[in-house]
Amino acid sequence: MNRIVIDVSSLLREVGREESYRKKIELSALVKNSDTIDFSGPVEVDLRLTNTGSGIFVKGKVKGELRLNCSRCLCDFDMPAEIELQELYAEEEPEEERFRIVGETIDIGPAVDEAFMLEVPIAPLCDAACRGICPVCGGNLNFEECEHEVQKYDDRLKVLEKWLKEHGGR
Ligand SMILES: [Zn+2]
Ligand SMILES: [Zn+2]
Repeated sequence: MNRIVIDVSSLLREVGREESYRKKIELSALVKNSDTIDFSGPVEVDLRLTNTGSGIFVKGKVKGELRLNCSRCLCDFDMPAEIELQELYAEEEPEEERFRIVGETIDIGPAVDEAFMLEVPIAPLCDAACRGICPVCGGNLNFEECEHEVQKYDDRLKVLEKWLKEHGGR
């Protein structure tokens, strides 16, 4: 679980006060079920923090890239992901414990982790048109034409030619 601790002491002094928080941060891998999902680089945090009187309202975006594994060709690839945060952190009785202001700081790490987790597709694809791996030889069909794939392609072409002939296409 990542920790992104922000000092809100100056914000707490005055209701209505606003501050922006912009930073590049290295995050450790997300853990989803038994899988870990790495970030390919630092994330860019761009937030606006406001003392609303009932707490510190955090609104903004975090941009990053997740390193995923394609469910079709099994290659690693980087998926850009951008999450939006909109959370109220309070000193007393926050909705959940992780939204509590502790010692004039807030930790947005858990909320960021959770939001990125929701961005991870159930069956990630390196490309919508990923051709996967050949079930016969195991070759990655995005990078190589194996004889098995060519065979399939020829068959499809024959079907198309037949259809065109029958329908007077040529
Ligand atoms: Zn793929
Ligand atoms: Zn093959």
